[in-house]
Amino acid sequence: MSVQATPTLSLKGIGASPGVAVGRAFLLDRKRLRTPKLRLAENEVEKELMRLKTALELSEVQLTELKNKVAQDGHDHELIIEAHRLMLHDPMLVDEVRKLIERDRINAEWAVRRVSRKIKHLFDNIPDEYFRERRQDVDYVADRIVRNLMGQVVDDEVEVPEGAIVVAHDLTPGDTAMLVKSGRVAGFVTDVGGQTSHTAIVARARETPAVVGAGRASEQISPGDLVAIDGTRGTVLVNPTDEQLNLFRETMRRHLASEQVGLKTRDLPAVSTDGYRIRLNGNMEFAEEIPSLLAHGAEGIGLYRTEFLFLGRDSPPTEEEHYQAYRRVLEEMRGAPVTIRTLDIGGDKVPGARRIEREANPALGLRGIRFVLHNRELFRVQLRALLRASVHGNLRVMFPLISGSSELREARSELENCRSELGRAGVPIGGRFPVGIMVETPSAAVIADRLALEADFFSVGTNDLLQYALAIDRQNRDVAYLYRPLHLSVLRMLQNVVSAARASGIPVAMCGEMAGDPVYTLVLLALGFDELSMTAGQIPVVKGIIRRASRAEATQILEQAMSYSTAEEIERFVRNEMDRRFGADGVL
Ligand code: PEP
Ligand code: MG
Repeated sequence: MSVQATPTLSLKGIGASPGVAVGRAFLLDRKRLRTPKLRLAENEVEKELMRLKTALELSEVQLTELKNKVAQDGHDHELIIEAHRLMLHDPMLVDEVRKLIERDRINAEWAVRRVSRKIKHLFDNIPDEYFRERRQDVDYVADRIVRNLMGQVVDDEVEVPEGAIVVAHDLTPGDTAMLVKSGRVAGFVTDVGGQTSHTAIVARARETPAVVGAGRASEQISPGDLVAIDGTRGTVLVNPTDEQLNLFRETMRRHLASEQVGLKTRDLPAVSTDGYRIRLNGNMEFAEEIPSLLAHGAEGIGLYRTEFLFLGRDSPPTEEEHYQAYRRVLEEMRGAPVTIRTLDIGGDKVPGARRIEREANPALGLRGIRFVLHNRELFRVQLRALLRASVHGNLRVMFPLISGSSELREARSELENCRSELGRAGVPIGGRFPVGIMVETPSAAVIADRLALEADFFSVGTNDLLQYALAIDRQNRDVAYLYRPLHLSVLRMLQNVVSAARASGIPVAMCGEMAGDPVYTLVLLALGFDELSMTAGQIPVVKGIIRRASRAEATQILEQAMSYSTAEEIERFVRNEMDRRFGADGVL
């Protein structure tokens, strides 16, 4: 073993985009500015308002330039940057800042910070992680205005050395878009962020390994340090030993090899050795993920989370915006099925569009289908857009968080109302398309036989189903250890859902995280799912397992697994069986 010049440091974050990368650290310093706080004399107020006006104008010019540059790349980052530009005109921000300068006689920098803090508070109680993370957008915009007020250079373009690992406290959407576009970045590490932060989403879409939420990484890593990251496990090694580096390179080699094998099987069906065929679909949030999903062999879209259309803006998208987004996805999928889930947000999750109400238990509150049934116009706008878009491809519509038949009936009848209205108005809407439900509440799983009579398909959302069935808050780290997809209660519910679907002759899919985790593939094969939907990188691995297994053997494994009582025993047994068969491939 060689003597290391610098001690090795190991950091743990959140694996946000799978893959392994090794490279030299490039630090992108976007740290918080210290905001000067000054009291103004009465005769200074006018001048301060002028300073604010100039800074806003400058920010507008910069964001327009940035948007134009990113637009040449033809991706959705443009929309995020446009949302930031629009914020510069939002009365909630600008009028409030002006008011503070005039009324409290404080300097513009301080006023911007105070207002942005207030806006961010409104996001605090939002149960949904990615809406909560939209606080970032407020920060990005506020930061830009403050930097411009202070005459600091706002450097939107950065030259990153080939193969570098970019380390930052946080990355703006503009940063990430530019960096990924330049095609030189080997990976990302950020101090903050979660699975659904901008960095994570863009990195995943572009298949660049990323670890987010890595604590104080940007302070602990120095420019030029050798950094090895594992975007699947969320680990970061700084100045690794030769031994660690070799292990990393080995993982990287295996990952690349399995990707290569996977890509070779892109056009092959996921069919077991005894002929059981499962359709493998992709989960998506942005249209820009489609090329990667197709390259990995996605046969359709199993879940399009339309909440992302609401990202970074404070008024809901118009019908036309919804329509254009759906049309694009349907067209790019060229006739393959596209399952679009209607808005899945909670009562306080539409920034600026609704009265903000705090709920004691947001996960049990007005979310998913309940929210849109209480906010009909929002729902109708989306339904009209879906009906119009249906002429452009193979659409399936799915309602989230259905807990009983009456919700499904109400949602369907609203869809039919919209269909008739558009029909009467002579708007082209195409033929009928399948309308299904997410099975993600225990009540839906238990009465699946009844729901199957009224739904055209099921898609099991295990992320929520587990949260509600096992009474574990998805966001709470303290109870994360109880997240057990192989808990006997979950397996029994899944069995019930699949057999209800079979009895009614409707297809049954799974689109929660469980669907893409290779450890569970044989269990899902045995249970009899027709479709599994997951992120791009997971498709080849899951397909590889299905193609090498028999359903008969999988059924034996499931039977024995279900003879155990504790989730730990079941999990240990299934892991061992999977390890014995596929462990050597490094996919588990
Ligand atoms: C789920 O709950 O499993 C699911 C797929 O939906 P989401 O993660 O968007 O709640
Ligand atoms: Mg869900």
